[in-house]
Amino acid sequence: MEVYSEVHVELTTLCDFKCNFCPLTHGINRSLQTIKKEKAFTIIQEIADYRLAKGISYFCLGEPFLVTYLGELLEYASQRGIKNRLTTNGFLLSKGNKRVEKNLEYCDFLDISLRASDQESFAAMCKDRNASFADFLAGIKTFLAEVKKGKYHKTKIRLFVFLTKDSQNVLSTLGIDYEITSDVPLQTEIVHNHIRLFFEKPIPWTKADEAAPLQKTGFCEEYLHGYNILANGDLTPCTFDYDGHNAVGNIYSDGGIKQVLSNEKYLKFKQVFAKNIVPSDFCATCHQLNKKKYKPKFQEKIL
Ligand code: SF4
Repeated sequence: MEVYSEVHVELTTLCDFKCNFCPLTHGINRSLQTIKKEKAFTIIQEIADYRLAKGISYFCLGEPFLVTYLGELLEYASQRGIKNRLTTNGFLLSKGNKRVEKNLEYCDFLDISLRASDQESFAAMCKDRNASFADFLAGIKTFLAEVKKGKYHKTKIRLFVFLTKDSQNVLSTLGIDYEITSDVPLQTEIVHNHIRLFFEKPIPWTKADEAAPLQKTGFCEEYLHGYNILANGDLTPCTFDYDGHNAVGNIYSDGGIKQVLSNEKYLKFKQVFAKNIVPSDFCATCHQLNKKKYKPKFQEKIL
């Protein structure tokens, strides 16, 4: 069985933001839920026992810092030799939440996703009506100052920024003196002083376009990156597959992760795509079709 560099486990579909590009904001076809603590530990145990992945990214949808057992789970994963990655909207970090800070003790990679660039876009995203963009940025700045002092030295932290006309202001407010030029590299990690920056263009979440014609042939190497376990237990070969359209089984009802990864449906999905035959209607209208080439994740370099 393949040992993937990193697989996704979505601990929760709950979120304190409602970003306009996120499927949660527009409604998903499964119930909102958080994986029960004992089930989450069983997932880690199985991945570790059978070496099903070297690292776990606790993300598909949802805000992982809302999960109250997160710190204990990361500690357990770390003890079992698994690297932990968190992706956050940064809101709880900006509030100096002590429980959240403690979660970082066993977090190897932290991606902070800064999606708002002014008060208006922040107010449209943040569910806390009393929160302001200025306070949010001030909180992130304080957090980054602690990072600079070496407080979270075990965690590799990256700042993801949607590139807009206000991004330079955002960086300046955070005390980051990186100059954004017209040819700033996108989707590339930029190490600037003690900060890792990652600029992206605002893009809609990959979503099958129901109106598009079904394509029977094409490539997508997303499945080579690993797999994605959704909060409801569905396992899908695609990390973009937020509703489990391509699910090949459910880890709770189909005997666990190893069992699902050995089933015919999963093997067929991979075999078919390897021959450039599109395996499902969801893939056939997906925006990523014919774009997604396998790229080893940067994490592999330091594992
Ligand atoms: S074509 Fe789209 S839905 Fe299918 S595996 Fe690739 S990214 Fe996922």
